[in-house]
Amino acid sequence: MDNTACPLCALERTPADATGLAWSSQHEPDGSITWICPTCTRAQLWRIEALLAVASPTAPAAPVPMRRAA
Ligand SMILES: [Zn+2]
Repeated sequence: MDNTACPLCALERTPADATGLAWSSQHEPDGSITWICPTCTRAQLWRIEALLAVASPTAPAAPVPMRRAA
């Protein structure tokens, strides 16, 4: 049973969500997978595109102000 919830907003990831593609997966150094909900995926997309960690269950990413491209 996958009880993974979004580490950013604690939204539960349901079986229906698991069959969809809206959630994004983040592979942690220890081999586990953190699932990010669609809302947080969109909010953190710039971090994902920059290959930065979005969050982890043990050490959530600190809030970082949005930086505008010059
Ligand atoms: Zn979320």
